[in-house]
Amino acid sequence: MSTDWINVEKKYYAQTVRRQPIVIIRGKGSKVWDVDGKEYLDFTAGWAVCNIGHNHPALVEAIQEQAQQLIQTSNAYYTIPQLKLAKILIDNSSLDRIFLCHSGLEANEGAIKLARRYGLTKRDGAYEIITALNSFHGRSVTTIAATGQAHYQEKFKPLTSGFVHVEFNDLSAIMEATSHKTAAVFLEPVQGEGGVNIPSNDYLKNVQTWCRQHNILFMLDEVQTGMGRLGSLFGYQEFDVQPDVMTLAKGLGGGVPIGAFMSTNSAMSLTYGDHGSTFGGNPLTSAAAYAVTKHIIDNDLAANARTMGKYLMNLLEGLKSQFSFITEIRGRGLLIAIEFDDDISARVLEKTNHAGILLNAVKPNALRLMPALNITTEEITQGVERIEKALTQL
Ligand SMILES: *Cc1c(COP(=O)(O)O)cnc(C)c1O
Repeated sequence: MSTDWINVEKKYYAQTVRRQPIVIIRGKGSKVWDVDGKEYLDFTAGWAVCNIGHNHPALVEAIQEQAQQLIQTSNAYYTIPQLKLAKILIDNSSLDRIFLCHSGLEANEGAIKLARRYGLTKRDGAYEIITALNSFHGRSVTTIAATGQAHYQEKFKPLTSGFVHVEFNDLSAIMEATSHKTAAVFLEPVQGEGGVNIPSNDYLKNVQTWCRQHNILFMLDEVQTGMGRLGSLFGYQEFDVQPDVMTLAKGLGGGVPIGAFMSTNSAMSLTYGDHGSTFGGNPLTSAAAYAVTKHIIDNDLAANARTMGKYLMNLLEGLKSQFSFITEIRGRGLLIAIEFDDDISARVLEKTNHAGILLNAVKPNALRLMPALNITTEEITQGVERIEKALTQL
């Protein structure tokens, strides 16, 4: 019974996350099942993580095979899955070098260290990093300092210093914030946790030009937007730019915890002894991420995300004309938000849970949809029917 496990959580687990009252025990493709046998269409995909769907055979087999061969050694030695993963990501991106870790925040910590080293060695000790308001870069003391949302920071001061926050999608704000102390600009191509905020088409291109003119690193946090989510393998391709540094995590391992930061040769300022990790890029997680990356590329799931994203947004536009309290449908690829004219997300979620579809209340007045990239038109149609049913019951 769900309630039994919910009581165990209440008694034993740190009470830091408000969960939906659903105990998930199994997943397959775009569906999950709870402990009571109820089926849900999963439009959260493990939080923009299970990009090839839950428990895809390509991923399961890679994990099983590698688990029998070698799970962990140390970065004191060479291991093949790590190098295969490095090669496929470099071969398919504009970046030249990679460092593997375990999560989004850790990838960003690495990128921040890289930017500090870059400032120290190439820009006279510059150390400041410009980030955007409403951004999200992780939950460590340094990455909450990078994150442009006060509520993540207030209870944990003093934070790491050296971050300047500016309005997103506003080049002039970056220009004004730039000084001799600036080492890097660090942005999400589309802000995910901040509410699916999509910049104008030329914003990133103009930021890139500004950074190049001033010898500042142009860094993109693609933890959420990477690995096909926006309709291209990497989000930067959607905006016709090439970052000096890019971070990945979420979708990279398809459910296995792994992250990465990547950089161009000229930006790579870290050298021997500057960074390291016990587990980073270990054989098990690397083999899984290699299988996922290869599957996304071989099957062009990024293109499918683009097509399915359009299909889904069209159906959601239909809901918008049906329900006057929906004010906007916005998105890119399969990262989509439904905005309401009032703070009803929590109430809507109660109904959508009941109707059998998992969604995220990304803001009090907005829901986020981030399904698997290989979701089908049938599953999307069925999902939107369930959302419609839920909205009718409000
Ligand atoms: C989720 C997310 C992070 C943090 O990743 P974790 O793996 O939770 O540490 C950082 N940046 C962006 C853009 C994210 O969406």
